[in-house]
Amino acid sequence: MTLDARKRSEVVVALEGEVFDMLVIGGGITEAGIALDGAHRGMRVALVEMQDYAAGTSSRSTKLIHGGLRYLKQLEFKLVREVGRERAILHRNAGHVVLPAQMLLPIIRGGTFGRFGLKWGLWLYDRLAKVKREERRVMLSREQAAKEEPWLRVGPLLGAGLYSEYRTDDARLTIEVLKTAAERGACLLNYAKVEDFLVEEGGRLKGVVVKDLVSNKTIQIHAKQIVNAAGPWVDGLRKIDQSLEGKRLHHTKGVHIVVDAKVLPVRHAVYFDVGDGRMVFAIPREDWTYIGTTDTNYQGDLSNPRVTAADVDYLLGAANRMFSKAQLTRNDVESSWAGIRPLIHEDGKSPSQLSRKDELFFSKSGLITIAGGKLTGYRKMAEKVVDVVADRLQAADPLQMPLPPCGTAKLALTGYRYFAPSVEDGQIYYLALKYAIAAKESRWLHNMFGSNTETALKMARGRTQLDILRGAMRYAIQEEGVVRLGDFFVRRSGMLYFGRNWIEACLPTAREVMAEAFGEDYDPDPGMEFANAYLQAVDFE
Ligand code: FAD
Repeated sequence: MTLDARKRSEVVVALEGEVFDMLVIGGGITEAGIALDGAHRGMRVALVEMQDYAAGTSSRSTKLIHGGLRYLKQLEFKLVREVGRERAILHRNAGHVVLPAQMLLPIIRGGTFGRFGLKWGLWLYDRLAKVKREERRVMLSREQAAKEEPWLRVGPLLGAGLYSEYRTDDARLTIEVLKTAAERGACLLNYAKVEDFLVEEGGRLKGVVVKDLVSNKTIQIHAKQIVNAAGPWVDGLRKIDQSLEGKRLHHTKGVHIVVDAKVLPVRHAVYFDVGDGRMVFAIPREDWTYIGTTDTNYQGDLSNPRVTAADVDYLLGAANRMFSKAQLTRNDVESSWAGIRPLIHEDGKSPSQLSRKDELFFSKSGLITIAGGKLTGYRKMAEKVVDVVADRLQAADPLQMPLPPCGTAKLALTGYRYFAPSVEDGQIYYLALKYAIAAKESRWLHNMFGSNTETALKMARGRTQLDILRGAMRYAIQEEGVVRLGDFFVRRSGMLYFGRNWIEACLPTAREVMAEAFGEDYDPDPGMEFANAYLQAVDFE
């Protein structure tokens, strides 16, 4: 079913018009994965998201596809094994948004990892995560570490471990998964909020009441199975379902800041000690370096968590202590974001000690809830949920042909369909030549759309930078459900975080493209949502 934002009303009609096998609440990475897995097995799937796709935690992470080395210290071997092995699968299926990244972990006097512990920890990590032989860890001497990362403070340095992970763009990964689900017939709608459940006599759920926040109409969607995977919001929905008992969520906030690579040039993603028992990352991304994350208990607004001056100072202080030439101040912060971790509460544990494991909850009404987990593990989480849904559908209708098992491990996502993966980089130069544009622009598009770049370029109808922006936006409206300015600038292109300084020059063109798609009277930024996000990225509480 289409993700064309201009055809929302057709999607609404389709959502109202049938009884779906599975309805998924939320449009973050976990829900996207569940929708894709279900649709790929042949289920009729619906998914509704109350904000934009990935507007929750799934655009606000550290953007790493990683096994989580620190979980080894917490002896979470199963978690490391499971998510560690997922990394290679995600890279194979979505190589344009899941890119290999070398990590450097400095060993410092009094730090989290000593040389011996790190050596064996990384050895175990390589085996648990099944890391390819050529990508396995290398231990560096103090001199080698200083050569690899010339800005590291040498005084406390004892050496370093170099190991392999992957970096991603979380929101882009989510949208690619959703596009692939839509290709397989899933009916998806953003800005559609579940406000209540429809209940049969006997108390079982048969559907949901949804408010379409674009048209302000209320609709009903019927489904045989309903999945609540709404990240930080799962308990709110369990409450409406009257099944909020036993385990509950524990929300913690994580903040990242972005600085120009010139004021903190790192060659690898450096994972370093803060000095209070925690560790943070400094990660290079094109012309920027981003630093994060904090981890503090949170009780505020889940949709709009704010970065505070204290969060920023904590991260700046950590970076200034670890990198000798860094003299970062608040003025260097070019952008920032805050995200909420949907963790499962454990009595007496601090935010950093809480497990990142996922857990399923089953309610008497039939509602299936999945909570906790990580971006990296989304595909396996989806498999667990869809297995349950498939069993229930089968039990309800034994004459139905059994559904096939999960097949997403070998399913390339929409933006990663090349004849051979090796042509990928060549593709950037080939398209730059073919459309007479700079390689930088071709790469910018390719980082977003992968093998769909040419379609976006055709929609550009010109060769200037602003024409290319037009192409990207037209594509994102038609193929990726962009309804508002923030959908494009925050989540499809990531420009709010990486390229914020370009946004002002783009805005008039962006408004033109929105008017071309939705009409002159259309307000592409209701409630000044994006205008506020733009200001808040550098204005700390
Ligand atoms: P979300 O992305 O929050 O999606 C839930 C969605 O449900 C939201 O979009 C919300 O709007 C929607 N929703 C809620 N209520 C309703 C309703 N009533 N009707 C309709 N829709 C509704 N993991 C990694 O693997 N690697 C990392 O590097 C990493 N770093 C992280 C750093 C930070 C600071 C944080 C906070 C998390 C990090 N994680 C990381 C974890 C990862 O980001 C999350 O596990 C993942 O994004 C959760 O996705 P989700 O789909 O479950 O939740």
